This record gives sequence, structure tokens and C-alpha cells, in this order.
Amino acid sequence: MWKLALFLIATFASAQNYDLLIKSGHVIDPANSIDARRDVAIKGNTIARVAPDIPTAEARKVIDASGLYVTPGLIDLHAHVYGYSGSIFPDDTALTTGTTTVVDAGGAGYRTFDDFKKTIIDRSRTRVLALINIAGGGMTGSASEDNVADMLPDKTAAVIKANRDTIVGIKCAHFSHPGWDAINRAIEAGRLAGVPVMIDDKIFTNAGRHSREKLLDRMRPGDLHTHVFNDRQLEVIDRFTGKLQPWILEARRRGVLFDLGHGGGSFLWPVAIAAAKQGFYPDTISTDLHSSSILIPQSDMPNCISKMMLLGMTLPDAIARSTVAPAKAISRYPELGTLSEGTLADIGLFALRDGVFAYKDAWQKKMLGTKKLECVATIRNGRLVFDTEGRGFPEWTTAGDYTVIP
Ligand SMILES: [Zn+2]
Repeated sequence: MWKLALFLIATFASAQNYDLLIKSGHVIDPANSIDARRDVAIKGNTIARVAPDIPTAEARKVIDASGLYVTPGLIDLHAHVYGYSGSIFPDDTALTTGTTTVVDAGGAGYRTFDDFKKTIIDRSRTRVLALINIAGGGMTGSASEDNVADMLPDKTAAVIKANRDTIVGIKCAHFSHPGWDAINRAIEAGRLAGVPVMIDDKIFTNAGRHSREKLLDRMRPGDLHTHVFNDRQLEVIDRFTGKLQPWILEARRRGVLFDLGHGGGSFLWPVAIAAAKQGFYPDTISTDLHSSSILIPQSDMPNCISKMMLLGMTLPDAIARSTVAPAKAISRYPELGTLSEGTLADIGLFALRDGVFAYKDAWQKKMLGTKKLECVATIRNGRLVFDTEGRGFPEWTTAGDYTVIP
């Protein structure tokens, strides 16, 4: 009898309760105030347990994360995966950078959202959410983006209400005519649907508009001002005094959110450095990733985080602004942005490399840094989808079984 009992105990102890175990990594999960060595166990597509030591015998597959940081899958609040001429299919650029959720910033309008869903959202392994453009034809050039007659709050709100699982807000950008028509209509649609509006800076908005009025009088708490470190027209820093514009701080106090939106033209070292010295960092870190910004400026999420660290931000703070903060901005917290037990397993594994690294801004000036965050592996919906060091794979042997590919 005692033999049977021992057998049962041994069987129970070695039972493989988990499908995947991320072992010996340093977990940064700001939403749960974790910044420590932890193991993360996954069952199916769900985070089952986070604890200091989970035995490897309890998992069917183990990823050795020693020396790596383990974070919630990053959320890129401003990317371009549809509509815009430089848009990129997300899996190739997001999943290779620990980014498990991208929010397309205005590629589709109410007329084109169904096509966006069919051709990109439903075909991506990356979770793709959308800020729908107030312009009905989406981000397809001035014929659409300046066409006030087709900026229809009721129709835009109706498409949002019919697609709440994927549409998380509204985008208003590139409006080149005088006046407030585009912004007013975007905010009206946001009011009708109960979602935030992301508004670009004022590159093309010289006529009849001022950032101060935009930020303090038009934008609501929870609305997002993107491209925060683009300062060609005095958005953030007073050019003569080098000080933060007072209305920027006032807008932050009101609850307006400031998003990085790095992109190909919207991140300038002099602005970012001056703002950082005065303690002003973006609330959310995002890439504005497209076919131009991905190459020379290298605006993917780990590079944006590395640049923020070069400006003095700590890694845990940068992870918070790339996970829980964007999740909250689009009302997807606590569903997204954490490693809480019971949530979907979207996870990034990163190395923080030492060396000399060049970080370029939009004017292609570089700053040298000594740290670089690099994605080593990505787990999306419980599955290992990217693993550059093969940490989740055994070495091959001549005796190995190649008849079954896992
Ligand atoms: Zn953009």
C-alpha cells in the first residue's frame, strides 16, 4: 500500500501541469509591482503561475531565461499596418521585437475598416487593434485626410460600436486646411462612441490653430497627443528659453496623454533631452513604425525604450510606459499589459546588452549609448513565436526523432 502511495505522490509531483515554463528570468511586471527573479508558467494560452521557483518537471517545455528580462508583451500604441503607403505587415516587425499588440494609428476610416479587418487584423498573429481615422477613407493622402465632408462622427462612431473588440479609439492627423473641423469632428466621434482620440502635432496645421488651444480647450482627459518630441513648431519646448511650454504641463495635469510616436520625423534629440532634463517623459512609448522609420531611425519598441533609457528613464519605468500605460490608455487594462495569473500569455524576453550603440533621431543625428535592449524571444497567446537564441529548443542529436515536428 505504501508503495502505491509513494508512486501516486511521485506521479503527482512530476505531473506536467504546465505547457511552458519560463525559467530563471528577471520579471518586470510594473502593474503587479514585480521587479525580481521569477518563473512564469503557462497553461494553454494563459499565464497560470508566477512564482520564485516552479520546478521544471512540472512543465512540458522549458525556456531558459537566465540573464534575460521577462516582461508583459509590449503594446505599441502608434503603428502603421494598413492604409498608409508605408504600412508594414505587423508579424514581421512586432513579434521579432517582443511587441504582441500593435495599435494601427488611423490607417482605416469608417469606409475601409472592414477591408482592414479582413486583410490584416484577421490574418495577423500579432494582436492588431485600431484607432480609426476620422477621415472616411483613412490615411491615404490629402484627398482623404483633408476631406471634411467625409469626416462623419455618427458613421465613425457606428463602426466603432460594431467593432468594440478591435477599435479602441480615433485618429486625427495630417489635416492641412485652416480651422478645427477635423479635430472637432474626431472629438465628437470620440464622445459619441466613448473612446479617446489620438491627435498628431501641428506639422501641417499652421493656419488658425495653436497647440495651446488644442491641448487645453479641445482635447479631453484621456485624449492622446502623439509625436511629443517633434518640435518644429514649438509644441513642447520654448525655442528661446529652452523651457517646457507651460500649457504642456497644464494639459498633463488635465489628463491629456503624451505619446512618443517616434516615426521617421518626430523624434529630435534637442527636444527630447531638454524635456527629459525637466522631467517630462512621454506617458506612452510608441514607434510610429512604417517603412521609413524602421530603417535609419530604428523606431521599433526596444530601440525606443533604449532611447528613453539614454534620456534617463529606468528600465522598469520604460516597460511600464510600454505595457500597462498604453493598456490603460485604450481601456484594455487589466486584460492586457500585465503578467497577472489568469491573463492571456503575451510575453517578451529581452537582453540588456552592454557596448557602444548609436541611436539616431529624425534629423539623423546620433547619440551614443552603452545599453541596448534587444528582444530574444516572444510568446504570443501562449505560443513561442520568436526565439533568436533557441532557448526553447533542445540541441539536435543523431538519435533525435525527426519524424514528429513539435
Ligand atoms: Zn503615424
